Amino acid sequence: MENSSIYVTRSSMPDKEEYFKEIEELWETHILTNMGIKHQQLEKELIDFLQVPALSLFTNGHMALELTLQAMDFPKGGEVISTPFTFASTTHAIVRNGLVPVFCDIKEKDYTIDENKIEHLITPKTVAILPVHVYGNICNVEAIQKIADTYQLKVIYDAAHAFGEKYKGIGIGNFGDASMLSFHATKVFNTIEGGAVCYRDKELGEKLYRLKNFGIRSEEIVDGIGANAKMNEFQAAMGLCNLRHVKDEIEKRKRVVDRYRENLSDIKGIKISEIQKEVQSSYSYFPVLFQKEYFSRNEIYDKLKENRIFARKYFYPLTNAFQCYEGKFDVNQTPVAFYASENILTLPLYADLALDDVDKICRIIKDR
Ligand SMILES: *Cc1c(COP(=O)(O)O)cnc(C)c1O
Repeated sequence: MENSSIYVTRSSMPDKEEYFKEIEELWETHILTNMGIKHQQLEKELIDFLQVPALSLFTNGHMALELTLQAMDFPKGGEVISTPFTFASTTHAIVRNGLVPVFCDIKEKDYTIDENKIEHLITPKTVAILPVHVYGNICNVEAIQKIADTYQLKVIYDAAHAFGEKYKGIGIGNFGDASMLSFHATKVFNTIEGGAVCYRDKELGEKLYRLKNFGIRSEEIVDGIGANAKMNEFQAAMGLCNLRHVKDEIEKRKRVVDRYRENLSDIKGIKISEIQKEVQSSYSYFPVLFQKEYFSRNEIYDKLKENRIFARKYFYPLTNAFQCYEGKFDVNQTPVAFYASENILTLPLYADLALDDVDKICRIIKDR
């Protein structure tokens, strides 16, 4: 292994035999998709594991988010307050629904939306707040709910990074009106590609069910302009296998994160997020902010690359700096997010990353 590459992430997989056994009965049923037995079983098990009232599976996290916004029937041109320090999906989901993203800045300490800057962005057109639990750091869900209640706004969380996390002992999918989870191959829990929406309102659940299946209500009634975003049986089977091991995987990720923290704490110029109080973490990412005066993020990135270690400039660029949105937004309106995007690096993190490799990565950083 000495000279092999280290990537920023590595997908968790069950033993081959375990997966083969899980999919075996599909050769008897010949039902490969459309909410089959594996799909139903995974939904049940996830509701239980995540301690949420209800959950709907999707073929990926992005479609889950996009269709959740659609299900809420906002008027076209409605404004959604979100952050640009996120994956393309969050902002695209807003725009693809004919809604307008309004960018709020983030907090330096944990990169989540700055709840103190939300209120002055609210206008008569505001319909929702779409905050992101960035890197698994939990947003200030209480303050956000208070604002939403005051102004009668919906809250939809992008919880793609927060699988299995709890805040004050409550499953993270319980906050807001809905929370999107991603089960992409690179995430803490994967179904190869996949995603889900956690929700409470039964009517919203029924809408989501129809929208992921072309808007079909019954054999002869199609009353929604839906998409096709169903999770298939092979994805769900992968999820059933991975779910059996996810607690161990998270435990192993913790070891890696603890080692990074030991190595990189108390180094001038290196900023690591504090451990959030009352949050049970799933250790999804390990971001490091290199203060400009002491380190060059891009040099560290290149130096690691020379050693065949692939960190990621995540999130860079900000979504409000994307070419597809040129001329529409101004990165200077979110200066904290801009600074973070210019100076942050997420380091390799996966369950089986060897602690020796963690030490090696840290040494390269320190000896820059
Ligand atoms: C992964 C991710 C998504 C999209 O999920 P997919 O399952 O890849 O479609 C959305 N938002 C964030 C923050 C993500 O990291």
